Amino acid sequence: MENKKELRNWLDTFGLDHPLVIAGPCSAETEAQVLKIAHQLKETDTTVFRAGIWKPRTRPGNFEGVGALGLKWLQKAKEETGLLTTTEVANANHVDLALKHDVDILWVGARTTVSPFIVQELADALQGTDKTVLIKNPVNPDLPLWLGAVERFYEAGLKNLGVIHRGFSTYEKTRYRNNPEWQIPIDLQNRFPDLPLILDPSHIAGRRDIIFDLCQTALDLNYDGLMVETHYDPDNAWSDAKQQITPETLHQMTIDLRIRKKGDAALEFQNELNTLRTQIDVIDNKIVEMMGKRMKIADTIGGLKKQHNVAILQRKRWNEVLGRMILRGEETDLSEEFVLKLYKAIHQESINHQKKIIND
Ligand code: PEP
Ligand code: MN
Repeated sequence: MENKKELRNWLDTFGLDHPLVIAGPCSAETEAQVLKIAHQLKETDTTVFRAGIWKPRTRPGNFEGVGALGLKWLQKAKEETGLLTTTEVANANHVDLALKHDVDILWVGARTTVSPFIVQELADALQGTDKTVLIKNPVNPDLPLWLGAVERFYEAGLKNLGVIHRGFSTYEKTRYRNNPEWQIPIDLQNRFPDLPLILDPSHIAGRRDIIFDLCQTALDLNYDGLMVETHYDPDNAWSDAKQQITPETLHQMTIDLRIRKKGDAALEFQNELNTLRTQIDVIDNKIVEMMGKRMKIADTIGGLKKQHNVAILQRKRWNEVLGRMILRGEETDLSEEFVLKLYKAIHQESINHQKKIIND
């Protein structure tokens, strides 16, 4: 696949002066629920109405979607509100039914993007149509796998494409339901600047309170749009209750979010500078987070040394670490002087941590 302007034609035809907003419930539950939310969203910046019809659940026994019946509700929502519609498809039969019910945009879920066989099945089922397809990142942090899925659609002749960043699963529990790993979409954006990039803050967050901040980071990174799970009664939603927000909250959020203005060369320069600065912020956050993790391990080592009555400073080990990191630094263009200073500071912090443990 090449980076081509044509990839974003579908988005440009909307002629929006703000990022694209896709919103709607995690799942279509009843006809009344679908229609009520669609009508509420009509009063917001929303262009595309989303609702899951077939729900991929990690474990069986949860609500698995209303199935094909819900497609009629989506059709009705479109008729009544003029909003475009989108739903998740996960096999050729879903594609067939979605096409028959005139769903405007199809999305590929995170659990589907991991499987080249299923992605190929979807691409084959869509061949010869001009549907817009949005591909969510795979659950695992694997950029080639994500890109591979996009390429399968591109090679099947689908040129209206986009990607949705919904975060990556981790075994470790973090503040996120799915870790954003911003560096992955940033790398993708650097390689394919014209491929529309949309944030799904809902599945990254897994909770309501950090959705705004995630959206702001994405807009600062020049994302093209947002896909936000929205329900009039989030707490009683049949799926993903904790992460959904009301259409009113969504509306207020689009007012409060800072959006970059496009325009003259000075503005473009400022935008580019701000995007690069946000990329640096993402890395800085990661550095501090990793340092915290490193010190936690140092604390455990401190405990072990205390138990076995061993001195904190192990000079031989320290010299090995330093030598290894200076060599690694050379590979990534960091001066010996910098690596030395950096590691002296890290080592000192590590010793301070261990001293605290030993003296406790
Ligand atoms: C969804 O959008 O409701 C969904 C199931 O998403 P994901 O594939 O990202 O888990
Ligand atoms: Mn969901």
